[in-house]
Amino acid sequence: TIKTRFAPSPTGYLHLGGARTALFSWLHAKQNNGTFVLRIEDTDLERSTQESVDAILEGMQWLGLDYDEGPYYQTKRFDRYGEIIQQLLDQGDAYYCYCSREELDGLREQQMVNKEKPRYNGKCRENTEGREGMNRVIRFRNPDEGDVVFDDLVKGKITVANKELDDLIIARTDGSPTYNLTVVVDDMDMGITHVIRGDDHVNNTPRQINILKALSADLPYYAHLPMILGDDGARLSKRHGAVGVMQYRDDGFLPEALLNYLVRLGWSYGDQEIFTREQMIKLFDISKVNVSASAFNTEKLIWLNHQYIMNSEPELIARHLEWHMQQRGIDVPSQGPALIDIVKAQRERCKTLVEMANASIYFYQDFSEYDEKAAKKNFKQGTDKILQDLLDAFMAVTEWQGDILHDIVLQIAEKLELKLGKIAQPLRVAVCGTGMSPSIDVTLSLLGRDKTLRRLENAIN
Ligand code: GLU
Repeated sequence: TIKTRFAPSPTGYLHLGGARTALFSWLHAKQNNGTFVLRIEDTDLERSTQESVDAILEGMQWLGLDYDEGPYYQTKRFDRYGEIIQQLLDQGDAYYCYCSREELDGLREQQMVNKEKPRYNGKCRENTEGREGMNRVIRFRNPDEGDVVFDDLVKGKITVANKELDDLIIARTDGSPTYNLTVVVDDMDMGITHVIRGDDHVNNTPRQINILKALSADLPYYAHLPMILGDDGARLSKRHGAVGVMQYRDDGFLPEALLNYLVRLGWSYGDQEIFTREQMIKLFDISKVNVSASAFNTEKLIWLNHQYIMNSEPELIARHLEWHMQQRGIDVPSQGPALIDIVKAQRERCKTLVEMANASIYFYQDFSEYDEKAAKKNFKQGTDKILQDLLDAFMAVTEWQGDILHDIVLQIAEKLELKLGKIAQPLRVAVCGTGMSPSIDVTLSLLGRDKTLRRLENAIN
């Protein structure tokens, strides 16, 4: 059965590239009824932090990328790595290397002069007599002959001559295992069938394959995903505002929209833009991922987010909106209408949940001042009279319903011989504090009787 993994190093946020790698691995497992493993590669003790582990777990959870196994932590598996290193030593597939920094630097310099590729010359493969006791690392004895060939599911056939690969360090002077060793041991022990990862690792793959072969392990399939570029064509980074996925939550994006956006970064299905989670699982095809890099496009993400806001079940949007309202110190529903009604009223005009939350605060909390421009434009001589007429009429209303309220506004417009807008707009500013809100009947019914009457009274000088 198929088994994939996401293997982040906890040295920062779960960023977009990582999230896409996780998504593609997750999709490939799900669509094959396989197993998806989360493995935290925390062997770099200096750069790994608990904060980052938490951020990764939180990001995965927010995106709904659930794992069937894990999280495994590499720091808990040092004994196992030690075993394998010993096995490689015993088999003669690894050896101690006593070369000092100075020796290696000298070698490199000479290779530069000779215009050769910098690589370890294998000095300690043979004669290490008299050198024992010095600081030593352990190197994998890479085969000298032949090629490493693998069929990358994205990039196609890749061939690397063994003579291009030098003897990789698999244990440092303190005995701790290096990245290429731990990955190989874990992928082997965990029975990973498909290694799906960023193509910054493609150069490691032939080395990892050689170690796997030395351990007589089954080789997994590999799929190296092209990188994500910013809109300027450079690799996506913090400079582009590329931050952790939780920042996208804070900025008002839905996890569904972000996932949908990510699945389209490097993969397509005809010209279909919108995929439910189920459709993604059904239709995604790792072998159809683009070879070339894809560019991140914020406008597109915002467009998708709006599609999801408009077309998802209002209950779902309301659940996400609630978090944003809480962030703004608003306690729903004790302070105002049910969020589901807010969603229905606002979703056409709000592309993000931040927009929606900010544009809905007045339904819950009194505002302390009117929007300056809106007040200037709408509060004029004679406005008090209009507002007073509205107030009187509204006070008499027994059933606080949109259509009834709308009729009242119409009647007063007729009575005062003014266009509807000349009534509705000052009314809107008086009760919302701003010139922008849903239609006046919806606005008033959402606000409710108390807030409407109180705010009208306040607006009348
Ligand atoms: N831990 C590696 C990283 O975060 C990924 C290793 C892998 O996927 O093989 O870049």
